[in-house]
Amino acid sequence: MSRGFYIGRFQPYHNGHQFVLERIAHWTDEIVIGVGSAQLSHTLDNPFTAGERVLMITRALEHLDCPFYVIPIEDIRRNAIWAAHVRSMTPPFDTVYSSNPLVVQLFAEANVEVQSPGMYERHTHSGTAIRRLMLEGKPWEHLVPPAVVDVIREIRGVERLRQIAGSD
Ligand code: ATP
Ligand code: MG
Repeated sequence: MSRGFYIGRFQPYHNGHQFVLERIAHWTDEIVIGVGSAQLSHTLDNPFTAGERVLMITRALEHLDCPFYVIPIEDIRRNAIWAAHVRSMTPPFDTVYSSNPLVVQLFAEANVEVQSPGMYERHTHSGTAIRRLMLEGKPWEHLVPPAVVDVIREIRGVERLRQIAGSD
């Protein structure tokens, strides 16, 4: 049984994440998805709660032909022991899939096998770009799975982002 690990902040979960996870599903028996910076929400860079992000991911991957677990992981702000922190919160995994240089480095130092899958249209498909479009009132819906559009509507996510961007 092989289990792969994938981590992001998913603010929000977008088609780039979906593209990579659908590929990982072909390479491994089960997937563990870490929702990073789980304690953060209601800020411009981290508008959505861990629970809302769990909902986005779970619904968007409903069709996936590979069992997956979505695990919120709080920051510890101590990089030297972060890989052990992650392992303490997740089902055991043997391979990490990440292109984030720090994530790659920290797991490599912890002797975990790391693979770096390619990026999918990174210029448009980034959380930062999508949050900016939401704030500017421009179309963003085509950049995320339909299930994520539903969740963000349900929680009035765009209205929240605009509200916290305001000044008092
Ligand atoms: P932000 O701009 O808020 O940092 P992000 O798009 O970088 O958002 P994260 O939530 O930080 O997304 O998730 C990081 C993980 O997702 C990393 O492993 C990163 O390599 C991967 N990732 C992000 N965008 C893409 C993309 N377009 N294609 C493939 N992988 C992506
Ligand atoms: Mg990022």
